[in-house]
Amino acid sequence: MPHEHEPAGDGASPGPATSNAALASRFHQMFPVLSAGEIDRVRRFGEVRRFPAGELLFHAGEAVPGMYVILSGRVAIVPRDGLGQAVPVAAFAQLIGAPVEEMTEVVPGEVMAEIGQLSGRPDLSVFDARAVGDVEAIVVPPEALRALLVAEAELGERILRALILRRVALIEIGFGGPVLVGALESPDVTRLSHFLERNAIPFRVVDPEEDGDASPLLARFAPKPSELPIVVMPDGTVLKNPTKLELARALGLVATSFRSEPYDVAVVGAGPAGLATAVYGASEGLSILVLEALAFGGQAGASARIENYLGFPTGVSGQALMARAVTQAQKFGVEFSLSTEVRRLDSTGSGPDPVHILELADGRRVRARTVVVATGARYRRPEIPNLAQFEGRGVSYWASPVEARLCRDRDVVLLGGGNSAGQAAVFLASHARQVSMLVRGPGLSSTMSRYLIDRITASPNIAVLCDTEIVELLGTPDQGLNGVGWRNRRTGVEERHGTAHLFLFTGAEPAATWLTGSGIPLDEKGFIRTGADARSPERVPLPLETGVEGVFAVGDVRCGSVKRVGAAIGEGASVVAQLHTSLARLGPTPASAMRA
Ligand SMILES: Cc1cc2nc3c(=O)[nH]c(=O)nc-3n(C[C@H](O)[C@H](O)[C@H](O)COP(=O)(O)OP(=O)(O)OC[C@H]3O[C@@H](n4cnc5c(N)ncnc54)[C@H](O)[C@@H]3O)c2cc1C
Repeated sequence: MPHEHEPAGDGASPGPATSNAALASRFHQMFPVLSAGEIDRVRRFGEVRRFPAGELLFHAGEAVPGMYVILSGRVAIVPRDGLGQAVPVAAFAQLIGAPVEEMTEVVPGEVMAEIGQLSGRPDLSVFDARAVGDVEAIVVPPEALRALLVAEAELGERILRALILRRVALIEIGFGGPVLVGALESPDVTRLSHFLERNAIPFRVVDPEEDGDASPLLARFAPKPSELPIVVMPDGTVLKNPTKLELARALGLVATSFRSEPYDVAVVGAGPAGLATAVYGASEGLSILVLEALAFGGQAGASARIENYLGFPTGVSGQALMARAVTQAQKFGVEFSLSTEVRRLDSTGSGPDPVHILELADGRRVRARTVVVATGARYRRPEIPNLAQFEGRGVSYWASPVEARLCRDRDVVLLGGGNSAGQAAVFLASHARQVSMLVRGPGLSSTMSRYLIDRITASPNIAVLCDTEIVELLGTPDQGLNGVGWRNRRTGVEERHGTAHLFLFTGAEPAATWLTGSGIPLDEKGFIRTGADARSPERVPLPLETGVEGVFAVGDVRCGSVKRVGAAIGEGASVVAQLHTSLARLGPTPASAMRA
């Protein structure tokens, strides 16, 4: 095992874009061996425990009590998935360029932990860990691990990087998370794969047509066709064709309880603006809950490559950038509840400690002293006959690696002329045979950045058809899309083209309708007014504050904001100073008064 301290890189994050070569070069970072001095610094965060030879430190599928740092003895590792199968250690070792024997035993100085431990939810082990001879280890519970990462900057960086890289490797080989048993190309497998990928959860698809592993399972659970795919969770639980919410609950992504006293800040939306608010706010000591309807990352998470975000000259996948932000927020103690839609805001409370009440889609209520609305924008559905029946059956509003795999060497059609359409076209062109890009206007120059236009022009398999609109979708609801008809708006000529993949990038509208009845003033297009724009005779709100005191809006949902990742993050950072002002006006909470 390597011992030397590696220089700090830019770190990697759960995300699909990491290459195996990159992982191999980071083997030493993934499995660091702590020095005696570093181990001493860990001691104050945990307690030393002893395990006699042969005892299991923990089982696969069970919650792990925390991070283990091995002091003496060795621990044998047998990774298992929910099917009870041993993970192919050889594949894992090959992926990261390590000898197989180094992957099966943990030696003194090494760290056993997974990034899920930062979330504050029970983190299920993906392997059995058995003591080989007597073992002594420091066990650091999740809360103390977060404290260690914050207090011990250099050591914390080393451990955190190892945890992030391990998750990246698990995502790469598809182990450590659910196993989806169903046809690779079925819309429900695509739906669930996409959801897992957006939440940076490792998973594996077993197609009964191609994989013998699936037959015994299918015989055992005998699902009806409508119950496919079945999803086998790491603890062996089986879900039959679950909704995304059911899967999220089974994965522990949805918080099962909230604090009883009000949070300092409830952030609604985990796109770049909401995540920036969470990171900056929690790093300054505020108690923060983030509520997110779908998956973290928002629109940015759907971006294959962001090239204009400061500090990433070669670009960064939106998913990777946002996954880093979530880890960073968890490190500072932010609580998350994903797949948790907020339906209503009630700010009518009064009294010495007025709170805002957020009503969730599942009927629960959350209380917070201030609220930051960071709900961004939702994709617009163009007026195309029969569109709804093909959504998820050939029609997509994003282009992620899941879709890219499905359209490898096939012809795809893409509608839209903005930057997100341009990015998607370039991304898909590296997988598909041909990309037909349909643009309503006469050209791209007024709607797309120059660098993307240049890249499209340089791509031999992207054809841009201007003045063009879609007039019909061909196919059946059962079999999905098999063709698209379009018309040239200048000449009136109509054509039909065979394709099973249509991507729509036709803009977005503010996700603020849930605020109806909350008293928050919106502009004529539905964006939230803030600052002077929201003033009333009684009150001039703070610059990012809405017309309701203590409720703020940041990012794309805010009227007048610049619709960019950098701008959303900037607003998330700026709002924190205003939150402090607002909280100071309210005075100390009963809890903080007691602490003082
Ligand atoms: C495909 C694509 C590519 C892009 N590429 C770039 C780029 O290269 N560079 C760039 O600068 N910008 C890019 N953008 C724009 C950029 O992503 C957005 O400006 C940015 O994501 C806005 O951040 P936000 O946090 O304000 O909102 P969003 O990213 O829209 O996030 C809002 C979040 O709020 C959640 N939400 C909504 N309603 C509720 C509710 N009621 N309850 C709970 N949660 C809710 C949503 O699910 C979402 O996760 C791109 C956009 C897209 C779609």
